Amino acid sequence: MVSSSHHSLDPPSSTILEAYFFSSPRIGKGSLSILRKDLMISSRINLKSFTREGLKDLITSLGWKTYRADQIFQWLWQKGSIEFDGMTNLAQRYRAELKRRFRIGQMKVCKQIPAQDGSVKYLFQLEDGVGIESVYMPEPSRRSVCVSVQVGCPLHCHFCATGRSGFIRNLRAWEIADQVVTIQRLEGVRISHVVFMGMGEPMLNLDEVLKSVEILNDDLGPNIGARRMTISTAGIPEGIIRLIHFPLPIKLAVSLNAATDRIRSLLMPINRRYPIRKVIAALHRYVAMTNRMVTIEYVMFQGLNTTKEEGLRLIRLVKKLKCKINLIPYNPIDGCDLLPPEEDEMMSFYELLRTAHKTVTIRKSRGKDVEAGCGQLRSRPLSVS
Ligand code: SAH
Repeated sequence: MVSSSHHSLDPPSSTILEAYFFSSPRIGKGSLSILRKDLMISSRINLKSFTREGLKDLITSLGWKTYRADQIFQWLWQKGSIEFDGMTNLAQRYRAELKRRFRIGQMKVCKQIPAQDGSVKYLFQLEDGVGIESVYMPEPSRRSVCVSVQVGCPLHCHFCATGRSGFIRNLRAWEIADQVVTIQRLEGVRISHVVFMGMGEPMLNLDEVLKSVEILNDDLGPNIGARRMTISTAGIPEGIIRLIHFPLPIKLAVSLNAATDRIRSLLMPINRRYPIRKVIAALHRYVAMTNRMVTIEYVMFQGLNTTKEEGLRLIRLVKKLKCKINLIPYNPIDGCDLLPPEEDEMMSFYELLRTAHKTVTIRKSRGKDVEAGCGQLRSRPLSVS
């Protein structure tokens, strides 16, 4: 039999129940039926919890041939099966056995909100009732999805809406990968790029994030090239170092947002634990070991981090780092007193960096009119029905 120490299965039902009781202030008598549903859901192992390798171990432990795992994986992650009956290349007795032992996890699409620029914000409801958001971003040359990796976020960056709703839980790998395949199915397009830049901090849920990368990259699954997936971090050195040894060549972006610790700590409390020099040191090691370029993300705020002084410091800081710089105008969020810079302030900061011969781009956030822009995603209360 498979032991849960080797494979991360869904949490036992008691964990879900506890999470419900202790995290939801709105729980009432009417919610009992949902709790009962959770109990039924989690009594069987979710087959989507496994990478193809994991599924092979599981399937062979049943005494079945390994190629059955390939078939099942393909049904789940390429053909989007939501039930075992449709798995027509498996004999009836196999399907019956699968049905008896396992289940196929599913999340609900609650809302699709199109923005004027063509991007679409998706609101999903997960099996335990919590809500997450993802964004579909079509461009002429690519079709990207921005995925969430946590429900809420524990980092509480001053300028980001996600942390304001607190931290609820990590997402499972399948819940991350499912955002991509669900959007792919509903939009009727092939998703070419995935950015891990939605709700949450990927480095604080790295096992599940990397497992989702493996699923998304699988050629019997969504088959998205590793070089077309980017993990964005607030700058957690241990996580950056761990990525060095991950076999798939995914891309790395780091939200620097300031060049002095005083300013960065004001913006991002995590900077008190991992100051700028530690983050930059980890990046140097990452580049040296992987020979890959990294992206420095830099959200611009009026009068705070776009001064000439701060620009020159930034140049000095990344001078020897193989990187490009991605400037992001701040998207105002409720309850934050900061402002985006004026156009000319942004342009002179941009020009300053350009003189240092760095590749610099200004990223226009997508879907701002529907609060789908960078830092605007948050967990909203969902009416559970
Ligand atoms: N936790 C990860 C990924 C989520 S944030 C990280 O910190 O990188 C993704 C990007 O959006 C980060 O670069 C972050 O600095 C930026 N961001 C957050 N809030 C923003 C806002 N209100 N306006 C513009 N960019 C924002």
